[in-house]
Amino acid sequence: MPEGSQGITRAKDICRDRFRRVKELRKEGRKILGYICLHAPVEMMTALQIIPFRMLGDIYETPTQVDRFLPRAFCPFVRSVFDLSLKGKYDFLDGMLLVHSCDAMERTGRIWESVVDHHYFHFMDLPTKVSERHRKFFREGLDDFKKTLEELTGKELSFEELKKAIESHNEQRRLVRSLYEITEKVPPKISGSEILQVIGAITSIPVEEGNKLLREVLAEIGKRKSGKLKGPRILVWGSVLDHPAFVEMIEDLGAHVVIDDLCTGTRGYWVDVKLDGDLLSSLAYYYLVELRCPRTFKEAPSDGKRKDYSADLEERFGYLREFAKTWKVDGAILQSVKYCDCHGFEVPQVKDYFNSLGITSLSLEHNYMIADREVLKTRVEAFLEILRGGVE
Ligand code: SF4
Repeated sequence: MPEGSQGITRAKDICRDRFRRVKELRKEGRKILGYICLHAPVEMMTALQIIPFRMLGDIYETPTQVDRFLPRAFCPFVRSVFDLSLKGKYDFLDGMLLVHSCDAMERTGRIWESVVDHHYFHFMDLPTKVSERHRKFFREGLDDFKKTLEELTGKELSFEELKKAIESHNEQRRLVRSLYEITEKVPPKISGSEILQVIGAITSIPVEEGNKLLREVLAEIGKRKSGKLKGPRILVWGSVLDHPAFVEMIEDLGAHVVIDDLCTGTRGYWVDVKLDGDLLSSLAYYYLVELRCPRTFKEAPSDGKRKDYSADLEERFGYLREFAKTWKVDGAILQSVKYCDCHGFEVPQVKDYFNSLGITSLSLEHNYMIADREVLKTRVEAFLEILRGGVE
């Protein structure tokens, strides 16, 4: 990456070569822990001076090693990350934390632990429901994780250090939200694919560096002139999009991706961790209850006899109504990688919810790799034509 680059240029450079900065920091003696799922409590790592590094796949690299361990009919994103690890591309990590976000991750985690030689490996269970009993269970899991981190670093995780780390990550959440506030305007001054690249960058560097980068990006975008292009305003929902190519494709077709509900986009930044009382309980509440992801089921309270489908949809997707209204969304693209039960099973309900809001949606299933993009492009093009009929 060019020395001295700043703001959006620097963010794109870091996102393009995500390993470079952490490898430099590792040479300086910093510890780096990899995690894949958004449910990893990164604040606890930061508090112990460990750099949390989000492990992603590579849509351009055909998996060649992973077939020895995982079937082809399996989450292609997980297959890709594991394949990179088997090829030694994640060897710079001091270890990794895997969270039971879905069954694909759980199954892979068990194999990962036995075939990749990391100095540290921890698997954390995560309930799929949010009752007090489940939160208590998860809080105990965080305590176990804390002990393993203390053993790894030889330091005790103090209340003050953890509070400071939560504050830094909350600051990052606020800065990312400010980035999305820019796209509320018509036309937006920053594209959806640029936002995904900024998030790709900040999840591969220490939180304080990420916050500095976000402030630079915000200052730079603030000075940009408004774009002139008028096109449908799109919300993208679904499973992981760890490369901007998919969103770029939509934007190249003349639409604006103004908001998303993705674990590589808004999901990790929409709510702050509350700082009150026992901090591990606050983290347990945030990661289990506040962090929205189809892998956790939140049903609307009922009388136990009859379930109300509309109330359930509202309980689970009410935030999408807010997104659609605030970002003046014309249409939604619901995308999911193949074999992802968490997202795949949710698509009909999300579609129903958008229908109830009067928003047209398109659902797409894909195989994660770049080669799929041309096929998807034809369908997105047709969808945008339908929307244009209504918005132009
Ligand atoms: S995309 Fe779906 S199956 Fe793959 S890791 Fe995420 S939740 Fe699991």
